[in-house]
Amino acid sequence: MSHEPGGSDDARARASVGGPGGAKPPGLKIDIVTIFPRMVEGPLQEGIVARAVTRGLLDIRVHDLRAFTTDRHRVVDDVPFGGGPGMVLKPEPLFAAVEAVRAQRGSPSAVILTSPDGEKLTHDVAARFSGMDHLVILCGRYEGVDERVREHLATDTISIGDYVVSGGELPALVIVDAVARLVPGVVGDEASVAGDTFASGGLLDYPQYTRPADFRGMTVPPVLLSGHHAEIEKWRREQALARTRLHRPDLLKEREQ
Ligand code: SAH
Repeated sequence: MSHEPGGSDDARARASVGGPGGAKPPGLKIDIVTIFPRMVEGPLQEGIVARAVTRGLLDIRVHDLRAFTTDRHRVVDDVPFGGGPGMVLKPEPLFAAVEAVRAQRGSPSAVILTSPDGEKLTHDVAARFSGMDHLVILCGRYEGVDERVREHLATDTISIGDYVVSGGELPALVIVDAVARLVPGVVGDEASVAGDTFASGGLLDYPQYTRPADFRGMTVPPVLLSGHHAEIEKWRREQALARTRLHRPDLLKEREQ
């Protein structure tokens, strides 16, 4: 993967995280637009997402927003109209980036703006995106993004939670990972995804243990060593319910509705 500054077409799609192009039918296409490409490229090269890319289930490209500026200094931000602190990402490079993606890779199914005031990312939201063909994710920075991007470019505005991080890069990675897990074949064992917290009818996961059965006198619940599958299932279900009742009673209320 090259890291030279952008400018050419090649540099625009500077970081094809995807495997050798063209050989396999494209899986879910994802284009991430950011002023810090390296911040997202690294994490995409590890673990489940990286394996999915190698296997052609995901086709992810990272684009440097500065490559879509037209001025000599490659300026992506400007002061807010009306005054106030900080800088705002300008609309032109973001529109140009999405237009270039459209020209290179076809019309995206969704253009996702990352923003703390967006729709909260949940299992259901991730599932909705996992059924699409092509996502573009726009990473904000500074005080945020010119509102015209949200109004006229983005199809969805997504928040990863009620806190503010410094840029859309980590939120983009969270979205990619949560969505990727729900693309068929990405996680080796489908049962493991179906049983995950929030996927399994809104219950938190039951506690997990592995060997050794006795670690410094801290022992594993005997039922798990019993070999009685029905008993184990019953125990897990009780634990999941108890945990949910304790930590997330709101999820139980949702189930009742
Ligand atoms: N001034 C803004 C915060 C800007 S943070 C406000 O008060 O709402 C800069 C960028 O980080 C945002 O444009 C967005 O892209 C990203 N970001 C920060 N927190 C986020 C969150 N919880 N979810 C998604 N994106 C977030």
